[in-house]
Amino acid sequence: MGLFTKDIKTMNDLFVHQLQDIYYAEQQLTKALPKMAEKATDKQLKDGFLKHLDETKVHVQRLEQVFQMHGVKASAVNCPAIDGIIKEADETAGDVADKKVLDAALINAAQAAEHYEIVRYGSLIAWARQLGRNDCASVLQKTLDEEKATDQKLTALAEGKVNLRAAS
Ligand code: FE
Ligand code: FE
Repeated sequence: MGLFTKDIKTMNDLFVHQLQDIYYAEQQLTKALPKMAEKATDKQLKDGFLKHLDETKVHVQRLEQVFQMHGVKASAVNCPAIDGIIKEADETAGDVADKKVLDAALINAAQAAEHYEIVRYGSLIAWARQLGRNDCASVLQKTLDEEKATDQKLTALAEGKVNLRAAS
């Protein structure tokens, strides 16, 4: 689906398109998070990535649930934004020699992904409500709450110890 084929005509089309986009993004994140956990040195950070991996698998399932509730077959469209975030994370991680600095870089990369998700889910929830789909909105809200909590935990980890250690 390209911008110039004008496949997105209605707000409902936009809602479905964005569901397909975040469905792809969540699937890619289920592949990226184990690699990030592997690279992390700090135990809490490693565990945090693995916990969010479990949550991310549920995010995929919730999206399938929303597709079904909305009467649309679950499918994914390429999301170049998340591909870029993941690619950049890989490249940066590959360039960081010091393990403690790498932890700080991994947190930054993970927060870029979380913020991307937060933006997308925020709009999806608003659009679902506008389309009279409060049922879909409340399922999506559960995921948004987990993304926000993850983002806050990453900030706490960075500011609490990881940045300090990276700088020492
Ligand atoms: Fe997610
Ligand atoms: Fe997430």
